[in-house]
Amino acid sequence: MKIYDLHSHSLKSDGKLAPSALVQRAHEKGVDFLALTDHDITDGIDEALAAAQELALTLIPGVEISATWENRTLHVVGLNIDMTNTALQTGLSSIREQRAARALQIGDQLAKLGIPDAHEGASRIAQGAILSRTHFAEYMVREGHAKDFSRAFRDWIGDRGKAFVKTRWAPLQDAIDWINAAGGQAVIAHPGRYRLGKSQLKKLFADFTDMGGAAMEVVSGSQKSDDTGYFARETVRHGLLASAGSDFHDPQYPWRELGRNLRLPEECTPVWKDW
Ligand code: AMP
Ligand code: MN
Ligand code: MN
Ligand code: MN
Repeated sequence: MKIYDLHSHSLKSDGKLAPSALVQRAHEKGVDFLALTDHDITDGIDEALAAAQELALTLIPGVEISATWENRTLHVVGLNIDMTNTALQTGLSSIREQRAARALQIGDQLAKLGIPDAHEGASRIAQGAILSRTHFAEYMVREGHAKDFSRAFRDWIGDRGKAFVKTRWAPLQDAIDWINAAGGQAVIAHPGRYRLGKSQLKKLFADFTDMGGAAMEVVSGSQKSDDTGYFARETVRHGLLASAGSDFHDPQYPWRELGRNLRLPEECTPVWKDW
């Protein structure tokens, strides 16, 4: 059986590895098909494609778009996108502008709360990659303002934290349209991570299907097995395809390792069935 890992990050967004090192690691972990899906940017794909050419690994060009649905942030993965598509790239660049503005606001907010220079510190860590809250978290841990990543999010920059800055990302419909315009398949990323109740999830799956979405991640890194069964049944109910991805960011997070435990339940139709 081939191993598909259709969600991963490089240091072009908030991952730790260069695209070529990511591809190498995926190959070592037995992955046959890897999608690079950086947040709101496709800059790493050329390097990843070149690295994959040397190995028995197929690199799927992808992206993870920050979107807003019913006043909440959702992530939509695009698979097999044409990176040269103008609608997609214009959309992504507008989101990156929102990210940059948000990062300044997070820095201001933290400064008011007694944590100075966070924007500068996070920027230094990001080294030119688009600024993510992950970079702020790393800065805060490094400077002793938070014990670890999860506390940095819980107490400061997570959606219930003191320095949370609410952002309006692309409407869900726009994110799906950009992916479709670029010839890709739109996938709801990690549906178990939005703290939505069952009835809200049902509404999301129905809306997403109506809007032209293709699939959802039935299997995502470090997900409960109960959730997997539930999401599998929901794909069948809504006629959605099923995807699987580790959401790998960092070799130091073994609970989201590349290629690990990504088998889809039998009842699902894989997103790759026509690849
Ligand atoms: P952003 O897209 O800049 O809002 O940052 C969100 C990113 O932060 C996600 O893609 C995750 O990689 C990371 N993240 C979110 N919540 C947590 C958490 N509780 N602990 C560690 N990382 C998190
Ligand atoms: Mn991330
Ligand atoms: Mn995500
Ligand atoms: Mn991700």
